[in-house]
Amino acid sequence: MLRLPPYTYHRPRTLREAVELLAEHGREAMPIAGGTDLVPNMKHRLFTPTHLVALKGIPELGGIDLRAHDEGGWELTIGAGESLASVAGNVEVRRHLPALAKAAAHIAGPQHRNRGTIGGNLCLDTRCTYYNQSEFWREALGYCLKKDGSVCHVTRVGAKCVAAHSADTPPVLMTADARVELEGPEGRRTLPIRELFVADGIWNSQRAHNEIINRIIVRIPGPDEDLGPVRTGYAKLRQRDSIDFPLLTVAVSARFDPEGHVRRLAGVVTGLGSRPRELTRWEELATGEPLSDEVLEALGERAGQQCTPLENHIIDPEWRKAMVPVITRRALADLTAHAHAP
Ligand SMILES: Cc1cc2nc3c(=O)[nH]c(=O)nc-3n(C[C@H](O)[C@H](O)[C@H](O)COP(=O)(O)OP(=O)(O)OC[C@H]3O[C@@H](n4cnc5c(N)ncnc54)[C@H](O)[C@@H]3O)c2cc1C
Ligand code: SF4
Repeated sequence: MLRLPPYTYHRPRTLREAVELLAEHGREAMPIAGGTDLVPNMKHRLFTPTHLVALKGIPELGGIDLRAHDEGGWELTIGAGESLASVAGNVEVRRHLPALAKAAAHIAGPQHRNRGTIGGNLCLDTRCTYYNQSEFWREALGYCLKKDGSVCHVTRVGAKCVAAHSADTPPVLMTADARVELEGPEGRRTLPIRELFVADGIWNSQRAHNEIINRIIVRIPGPDEDLGPVRTGYAKLRQRDSIDFPLLTVAVSARFDPEGHVRRLAGVVTGLGSRPRELTRWEELATGEPLSDEVLEALGERAGQQCTPLENHIIDPEWRKAMVPVITRRALADLTAHAHAP
């Protein structure tokens, strides 16, 4: 049996109190929301915080609200403490950002989704075959660069960790141009989620260790705006459809003219390297075109050319590479299936 290391559990009642506790205990403290990622990682001795600052009892981190935006359309605000089940089932999320509801509904199993939060999902630790193991297993291998060692077993050098960003909701939020609000000792700041992640598997976030994600904000354009409403799509590859982390996740968003021709298109892939990857040079293939089978094929091929899976997963990288065009086409097909809000 894997046991938890000892720790002191703090139950702050406000966000400010939580931030102060994190500042007081420095690198010895970590926030804990649902604990579905952090608790197994503590059992594996990947993190051994001596102070856990619970976010679950903080009312400011709750709530999903939709408001009219001054510039037209709406603004959707999701508290970081909302459970994945609540995001997946929320009527406004399902109506305005169906790919986010779908991504949340495809994370782990029902118990994890009831407990795990969207904030925890944004802060999910990167994953690797050589890292998400018991301490005994890792010690036998001589540990690795990300934790307690000096060599990366994937790249076989000691320069960089390439553990995989494996969270399902960030790619969707990136294609939706979401922003995250962070609360830290210096106060509050807002960051486009596209800038939140960095290419470093050891700590792949711009978030400082003592900052808490407070909420996620998404502007939803109205149907009458110049570029038309947004449609979103999402598809995931995993070993078992019931519970597993992604081997590959693709999120897409698009805006169409009244005749169904593409005006804007964005795609983000994750599950490969340390941060989600934005697909480039897509619009030149699709702008002014309907999403015909030929265009879907060309977009899938281009996505495949831009993605290089690594041996950070137990599954063969060549097969995962071959699946990039397939999963990309499924995500694009998904967006054509979802009509946006009226
Ligand atoms: C069997 C299994 C399968 C899983 N499958 C998937 C999957 O398919 N896709 C997927 O994306 N995830 C998966 N997960 C991981 C996890 O369940 C989810 O990512 C979940 O959203 C994590 O949220 P949490 O609230 O439990 O995070 P926690 O475990 O509480 O925290 C995770 C990390 O985020 C930090 N943190 C939490 N909230 C905040 C905040 N508001 N501000 C700052 N830091 C914060 C914590 O300090 C910790 O470092 C799986 C987990 C298990 C055990
Ligand atoms: S990518 Fe390399 S350094 Fe990072 S967790 Fe895996 S083996 Fe360790």
